[in-house]
Amino acid sequence: MNDVVFQADKENAPALKIKSGDTVVFECKDAFNQVIQKPEDLPIDFDMEHINPATGPVYVEGAEPGDTLEVHILNIDVAKQGSCCIIPNFGFLAPEYPEPWTRIIPIEDGYAIFSEKVKIPIDPFPGTLIVAPTEVKHDHGTLIPKEYGGNMDSRACTAGTKVYLPIFVEGALFAVGDVHAVQGDGEVCGTAVEIDADVTIKLIVNKEKKIDRPHYETDDYYMTTAWAETTDEACKIALRDMIDWIVQEKGLSREEAYALCSCVVDMRISQLVDITPGVRAVLPKSIFVD
Ligand code: CA
Ligand code: CA
Repeated sequence: MNDVVFQADKENAPALKIKSGDTVVFECKDAFNQVIQKPEDLPIDFDMEHINPATGPVYVEGAEPGDTLEVHILNIDVAKQGSCCIIPNFGFLAPEYPEPWTRIIPIEDGYAIFSEKVKIPIDPFPGTLIVAPTEVKHDHGTLIPKEYGGNMDSRACTAGTKVYLPIFVEGALFAVGDVHAVQGDGEVCGTAVEIDADVTIKLIVNKEKKIDRPHYETDDYYMTTAWAETTDEACKIALRDMIDWIVQEKGLSREEAYALCSCVVDMRISQLVDITPGVRAVLPKSIFVD
């Protein structure tokens, strides 16, 4: 499917209706909505109403508020070319880099060709995974991460990862976009290797799991994630969510869970640039003896 939205409103008409457990191939446009195609295309005068397109929304039958949507990312097939830009007034060091700058980045044999001297193994993931929130305000853009997902820009969300999103409206109204062929933790200049991609996802409605914000899971790790005005505050929210998860799922006391986080959990920065910085707490699952 290739319909896109720029707002995650519950009034958006579903582009597709599926059953829980169905798999969908989402044809995702890059975050620049395909306006950066050659070195002369500078990141200026963007139409901000049409940036960061998310492909969808998909209505999942049976999804109800309070449920959790399991987003199984199965495969990400990126296009032959991406781009990285420095956008004026955007990025972690924005005042120091006022000029627009574009680098077109070909993808060859699994590498992003950053320059003649630099090639990077790709590790693609969608930066934006979103469901519709409860209120209709027509300002639920896809650019700022929220409890309903959005522009999370976490490189943990690669193929093989399950993203858990809390469901706020009937059908969930899931959408996905903003694929990065590769991105470092922080996404410091504000863009990574922005690229078109086909993203294959299985969507499952989970009636048992209850979460306040997105969580991620791989075969090896369980992750909580959060955003806030500051990175410090985001870390505290993600850490509290991880402690809650350990207490509920593994039966440890709160003190044990807090101390265990100190022993094994990595607090990682997802992004520093999307208005509210985002972090994730990463717990290795192998420590639990079943
Ligand atoms: Ca993004
Ligand atoms: Ca992006």
